[in-house]
Amino acid sequence: MIPVIIHTRHFPPKRFHAITLFPFVFHNGRKMDDTELRHEIVHVWQEISLLIVGFYLLYLAFWIANLIVYRDSEKAYREIPFERSAYKLESQENVSRRDMTIGWLREIIRREKKQR
Ligand SMILES: [Zn+2]
Repeated sequence: MIPVIIHTRHFPPKRFHAITLFPFVFHNGRKMDDTELRHEIVHVWQEISLLIVGFYLLYLAFWIANLIVYRDSEKAYREIPFERSAYKLESQENVSRRDMTIGWLREIIRREKKQR
């Protein structure tokens, strides 16, 4: 699924470049490059797989938990399993729908194994 891309000047704030609010992707520039687009498409599929609301609730819960653990907003954002999966998949040209929808679960499992 290709999202509806809306280019704006001030949303999201510059440090984020783009944000997916299903079914739209807001981008604060004139043109998204392929990597950025693939990253946001992964988020669209994550949102669909969790019936949209579930994605946002989990995303917020992961971010708050990460903030408590890392005490660093950038690290807390980067360590959200949805983001870890999207950053990993954004550089691949052919990504399966399965990887886009449940790849974030693998990120949680990998993290658990790493910590043992
Ligand atoms: Zn992202």
